[in-house]
Amino acid sequence: MPELPEVEVCRLGISPHVLNNKVSKVVVRNAQLRWPIPTDVQTLVGQMVKSIDRRAKYLLLRFDSGTLLMHLGMSGTIRVIDKGTTVIKHDHFDLQFINGTTLRLNDPRRFGAVLWLDNHQDELGLLSKLGPEPLGDDFCYGYLFKKAKNRKVPIKTFLMNNHIVVGVGNIYANEALFQAGILPTTKAGDINESRLNKLTDIIKQVLRAAIEQGGTTLKDFTQTDGKPGYFAQSLFVYGRAGKGCITCRATLLEIRQANRSSVYCPNCQK
Ligand SMILES: [Zn+2]
Repeated sequence: MPELPEVEVCRLGISPHVLNNKVSKVVVRNAQLRWPIPTDVQTLVGQMVKSIDRRAKYLLLRFDSGTLLMHLGMSGTIRVIDKGTTVIKHDHFDLQFINGTTLRLNDPRRFGAVLWLDNHQDELGLLSKLGPEPLGDDFCYGYLFKKAKNRKVPIKTFLMNNHIVVGVGNIYANEALFQAGILPTTKAGDINESRLNKLTDIIKQVLRAAIEQGGTTLKDFTQTDGKPGYFAQSLFVYGRAGKGCITCRATLLEIRQANRSSVYCPNCQK
């Protein structure tokens, strides 16, 4: 599943090709994504992409009359290709530009989304209830401590709650808790402020490192042979249950929390 760093790398990858480019055609091959693609997207023809932002895992293409919101869901990828490129299975949506460049969404599982926010209004409330961006200034010292007060939920589940902070998916919650030396089952409200501040720093570091690594290892978004994949990263605990801790060599353990896998070192994480 694409996580925040992959969406950010996607944003950076497509921006130079799409920014200030005018839409010539909108092609909907299959409108049945997580929500149906609205017919309003046809109003984009003749409009120019003014900016491309990201909020949580939503890509936001800004036009004069509104915002095109795109989400990659579980299995989505976006490529920048020439409009004549052969359509393959699961290529559900194209945004074609006057210079022939095309933004093409492929999504086998169709949990992704393409929505139109007319006049930039978020009527479905997808964006308005989200917590702060982990790399933004609002996610700062004292924030997690304030939010965690009296909360009995395990810290791992707490971090993955989009109302607390967005974009800390399962991989990054595991990695950050390992690097912060915090046991994933610890009640959020039982962790002192200095440890939560350290965790805040580590979450930022882990996500920034992933974005940096993704930017250098990803295939060019304009490549037509093979889609820009989700990048493999060097991870300390995620996917390493039963293997040795890189710090102390103890065997990493795995448990299920909120139906997701948590891997931790019983020695390094307290
Ligand atoms: Zn260890």
